[in-house]
Amino acid sequence: MVRVSNVITGSVAEELGILPGTELLTVNGRELADFLDWEFLTADDELVIEAREPGGDPVVYEIERPEGEALGVELEPPSVRRCANRCEFCFIEGLPKGLRKPLYVRDDDYRLSFAYGNFATLSNLKDRDIARVLEYRLSPLYVSVHATPWEARKVLLNNPRVPNIVDQLTRLAAGGIQFHTQMVIVPGLNDGDVLEQSLADLWALGDAVLSVAVVPVGLTQFSHLYTGQSMAPQMCGQLLDHLERWASRARAERGDSWVFGSDELYLLAGRALPGPEHYGDFVQIENGVGAVTALRARVREGLASLPRLDGRRIGIVTGVSMQPLMPELLAWLTEQTGARFELIVMENSMFGATTTTAGLLVGADIRRALAGRADLDLALIPAETINDDGVFLDDERFIALREALPMPVYPSYDFIDALMPEGAAGSRGAHAA
Ligand code: SF4
Repeated sequence: MVRVSNVITGSVAEELGILPGTELLTVNGRELADFLDWEFLTADDELVIEAREPGGDPVVYEIERPEGEALGVELEPPSVRRCANRCEFCFIEGLPKGLRKPLYVRDDDYRLSFAYGNFATLSNLKDRDIARVLEYRLSPLYVSVHATPWEARKVLLNNPRVPNIVDQLTRLAAGGIQFHTQMVIVPGLNDGDVLEQSLADLWALGDAVLSVAVVPVGLTQFSHLYTGQSMAPQMCGQLLDHLERWASRARAERGDSWVFGSDELYLLAGRALPGPEHYGDFVQIENGVGAVTALRARVREGLASLPRLDGRRIGIVTGVSMQPLMPELLAWLTEQTGARFELIVMENSMFGATTTTAGLLVGADIRRALAGRADLDLALIPAETINDDGVFLDDERFIALREALPMPVYPSYDFIDALMPEGAAGSRGAHAA
């Protein structure tokens, strides 16, 4: 059963009298277990839907839908499948206590992998799930592989019952499913020979494996499972060399780089990030692969649209890892706008100094950075620090923070969004100039 949360005005569903709270039970005789069933079983144009009205009365809707028209039903969010692992490097294990509850949910859900690109380990996949993936052709899936050698993977995931990932991927690939994969590298556990074997196994799956992202383990001051080595610059450099051998083979044989080190790996190694041609379609940008290169490209492309902001003083708040990359971007922005940009680099007060990503800064860090800075005309903060409800990871609300600070503050993904004439900050700047 799936429950309706909202009905779109003017839709087929509204015409039928479907209401929020209606329970949808079957479509053409097949039971509905979740949003995937609803999406795929309602693809037909002739539908018989058995349902229960909010008051409990049974009802049957017979629908002949005009071709291509959506039914106009939104469903309540699915209950997420919990993860059965206890990975050495789990970010959630590295969270401090006392944050809001949803942050501690360890999801491992192939449905969300297909629908939203969330990475899943597939370790809780049952035979009936595999049948579903194949029937609905849920492709591509985003899979946390970490290691293909079975014993190494059991250790990494801290789960002796984890299935053999090569068998799983092979079975799914035979049914036409493709994968974007990732490996979080934990020194001593899945670098060296395990990494080589894993890349060889994934390569052997041919076109089914669309990409491999290799990400260094990220530890916070609260991480308590893995207590081994962190990623030293030399180790990151060796890892990148290893990946480059596979990437050049991939470029020669299949025309794309196939395996990508994450941006963080390059930053830790102190190496220049590759240009856009390395990343092709930036297929793992959400995973921090090519995000900096894409940011550079967006800033370059957007410069011409910026207004003059001569003499204005603009603070740019960021995390430690972005510090070496920012002077170049800020020099471009200065030349184009005439504004004076000041880089304000913050350590993360919640996760500790080892967590250097700008997107994980919390409200308290930004408050600390900007309180008392009445000399700034404007401040930009990383937009990734705020969720869709306008709340930072530490529960600080953006609106409250903004009201407490002495200058206008705008979240920004790439500076251009906030500084361009139709951007909020840009229009202020242009008017004030
Ligand atoms: S699969 Fe591992 S990293 Fe992901 S939520 Fe579970 S324990 Fe954490």
